[in-house]
Amino acid sequence: MKEVIFKFSYGLFVLSAKDGEKDNACIINTAIQVTDTPFQVSMCLNKNNYTHDLIMNTKKFNISFLSEEVTFDVFTRFGFQSGRDVNKFEDFADCERSENGLYYLTKGTNAMASIDVKQTIDLGTHTMFIGEVTEEKILSESPSCTYTYYQNSVKPKPQNKAAVDKKLWVCGICGYVYDMEKGDPKGNIPAGTPFEKLPEDWVCPLCKHGKDVFEEQ
Ligand code: FE
Repeated sequence: MKEVIFKFSYGLFVLSAKDGEKDNACIINTAIQVTDTPFQVSMCLNKNNYTHDLIMNTKKFNISFLSEEVTFDVFTRFGFQSGRDVNKFEDFADCERSENGLYYLTKGTNAMASIDVKQTIDLGTHTMFIGEVTEEKILSESPSCTYTYYQNSVKPKPQNKAAVDKKLWVCGICGYVYDMEKGDPKGNIPAGTPFEKLPEDWVCPLCKHGKDVFEEQ
């Protein structure tokens, strides 16, 4: 089940928001144009995500459209850590503020849009935000980075199997590697726990997808 999720032709975006002095951003694959006139965009976000709180409070967000020039460090910076723990924009030069005061990325992107939220729909684990585009810019002519392009050409390839004399399981979504020798301390999984013995509700510590998206390396 759910294997078809890998067949959707997702694009990838950096979603950014700002509440007071606090900026944050994350990686999403859920931004879509929904109407032309007015120009409206929808976007879905997990409620556990810190950016979700900022957008709920401010009803504003920016999307930066990732291009094929994007590098993996954009994913590690904005995707693989939480804005609750770190300031993701610290020491980051490749961004500017749009008219609404929010950041957008100027490198590894081909466009940006600023959105004012007009509706929210509660979808259980996620909220769908629908809003009007208030500002838009083309930033480069590089093609958009699709989810498939990310998987094939941006995400580092797994380590050589022969060089690794232990069972590793890799998240098919974000590339996180579960190493039983380390366990998952943040998820209360002690070192030495084989992947097969992880609780059924265990989720990837980075992207929060379940065990079913992991593949043995
Ligand atoms: Fe993951």
